[in-house]
Amino acid sequence: MQYRLAVLPGDGIGREVTSAALTVLKKIESLFSFSTEVEEADIGGAAIDRFGHPLPQRTVEICQASDAVLLGAVGGPKWDNLPGDLRPEAGLLGLRKTLQVFANLRPIRVFPELMDASPLKREVVEGSHFIIVRELTGGLYFGEPKERRQTANGLEVVDTLHYTEDEIERIVRVAFDLATKRRGHLTSVDKANVLESSRVWREVVQRVALDYPQVQVHHQLVDSAAMMMVQKPTFFDVVVTENLFGDILSDEAAVITGSLGMLPSASLSSRGPGLYEPVHGSAPDIAGQNRANPLATLLSLSMLLEHSFSQHEAASVLEKSVLSVISQGYRTADLAGRHHQALSTTEMTERVLAAL
Ligand code: ATP
Ligand code: MG
Repeated sequence: MQYRLAVLPGDGIGREVTSAALTVLKKIESLFSFSTEVEEADIGGAAIDRFGHPLPQRTVEICQASDAVLLGAVGGPKWDNLPGDLRPEAGLLGLRKTLQVFANLRPIRVFPELMDASPLKREVVEGSHFIIVRELTGGLYFGEPKERRQTANGLEVVDTLHYTEDEIERIVRVAFDLATKRRGHLTSVDKANVLESSRVWREVVQRVALDYPQVQVHHQLVDSAAMMMVQKPTFFDVVVTENLFGDILSDEAAVITGSLGMLPSASLSSRGPGLYEPVHGSAPDIAGQNRANPLATLLSLSMLLEHSFSQHEAASVLEKSVLSVISQGYRTADLAGRHHQALSTTEMTERVLAAL
């Protein structure tokens, strides 16, 4: 098989971690007998510097012509004072919208060996392994009107929470499909006691559930879900929710693992390429020092192999290799603490290659 991959290193440590991922991909290709035609393109600050825009047309075209997009991270202090639509982050939002990646998947895994970094007690967080499926292209973020109006009594302001039944159904189906491959448990998070959109969300979930009799469904209000996530995170298997609730819950979930440098993400569309990126940002404080943890990006590459290339065995072997370097005690500086020697980005990458 031959695949096309767009690689957008972006800024800061994004460049170092995507470079690590490409090294690992080369090795995986030789182990699993497929090949990838890689094309690199600029996004974010790097694109502003070269082309004066955070999302050049050429980058969009390369992504659209690919089977998948692997992205590092965007942003940094150098570009912080630009106007909103010319900032590096606008490039990433524009790319998500252009690629119509409506399903954002964030696996949340508490690594037993890294649990000491979690703000939660070991007995609460141990064994947590769930996935948040966040709707990414609708809801309050994109609904119109979105405006401020001057009235006789001061400002009046409007945001619009807009969804169609079809938009809800397609994200809910992604979540049900995942649940059938996992522990068969789906939590749908809404605010159906207050919001009309949530009441329709719940109706759609109930209707789609008829197609998945093997999946056990829970409806949970978002305030209760936020509480449960720190009280009993092991309760969750697949969590599906709309854009804003998903944004908030996925940051809450990330922090309970204590290992930002370990968390991958995938954003999928119905037809076009998926977009894969680590959850962490460009980490300007350590950029260019060969200190970044590449494992979140390698786990994102594993998701890419699974969802966009359908190389299931390669995906699983890469994931297991990442887990095995952690259980062998190898750590980059972000996770090393006092008891481990800190490996560089390239040294950690070598460890994963050896484990593969
Ligand atoms: P965002 O880009 O979402 O605004 P941020 O800029 O607040 O995020 P990050 O860039 O993710 O945050 O960095 C937060 C902290 O975590 C920094 O101190 C950074 O050095 C550290 N960090 C983030 N990712 C990694 C990584 N892969 N390896 C090592 N340290 C990391
Ligand atoms: Mg940042």
